Amino acid sequence: MCKPTFPKKPAFFYFVLHKKFAFMEANELLIYQGKVCPYCGKASKFVDSKVVYGRSYGMIYLCQPCNAYCGVHKGTTKALGRLANKELRDLKIQVHAAFDAIWKNNHMRRTDAYKWLADKLEVEARFSHIGMMSEELCSRAIAACNEYVHTVGAIASNLTVPAT
Ligand SMILES: [Zn+2]
Repeated sequence: MCKPTFPKKPAFFYFVLHKKFAFMEANELLIYQGKVCPYCGKASKFVDSKVVYGRSYGMIYLCQPCNAYCGVHKGTTKALGRLANKELRDLKIQVHAAFDAIWKNNHMRRTDAYKWLADKLEVEARFSHIGMMSEELCSRAIAACNEYVHTVGAIASNLTVPAT
């Protein structure tokens, strides 16, 4: 591996730069753990989901001012992804519908479909899970899945329906 070369700058400059990146990475990690709200940057609260749903479906991480939340793996404190506000929650429903069309129609197995999507979005596989996606990634995922289904569908119908 070759190391990136930097222009000549005082060491202090790189110290500050490094600290800043270290902070950003730590903060990003907390966002993906549901501990920090990606919208306001404040700590989320670990509360019962009846706060938002009116009845309990288990625990959630919640940022009340942003109306952003996410669920946890059953019986754990491990978040399913990052906190999502109303806009992102709606987008994620659309991603699920577009993504499910790929593997439920047997175009691909589900695990392969996740790998395909990660490649397509150029993100690490662990971030290609829908719970981890940002608004931008959701939009790109919907477009990629729709395009795939459209293309495969077109090929399939060309094979079965004779051209008129
Ligand atoms: Zn917030």
